[in-house]
Amino acid sequence: MTQNDRAMRETSRRETATGSTRDMSFGLEEALDGELPRETVERMRRHTDDCPECADEWERLRRLKELVRRSCADRAPSDLRARIADTCRTITVTTTSTSTTTEADGSTVRVTRSTTTRRTLPPA
Ligand SMILES: [Zn+2]
Repeated sequence: MTQNDRAMRETSRRETATGSTRDMSFGLEEALDGELPRETVERMRRHTDDCPECADEWERLRRLKELVRRSCADRAPSDLRARIADTCRTITVTTTSTSTTTEADGSTVRVTRSTTTRRTLPPA
């Protein structure tokens, strides 16, 4: 174990107590978010060079953040908004007409006709 590992383990005791073995969990998110001083981040990067465990964790978190960033990009929510707006503009009208005919033998025939029309209103 390197000195960095020890220091990181010390500061991330809360995480390790809950069962996590990530020894660089403290500060990793902040580092990726650019909230840590440059030299601290560089020190962490140097540490990941010879600590595969932390390198994995770094990469895992980096990808996770990238994924979150991508899915939170403007495009997705506005696509969703457009879909919702489309759905709200589409109205379904069902017309039902019933006619009853009395046959010569006295029986009645009831015909129910229903027509469903989907209409899309113009954008607001
Ligand atoms: Zn490490």
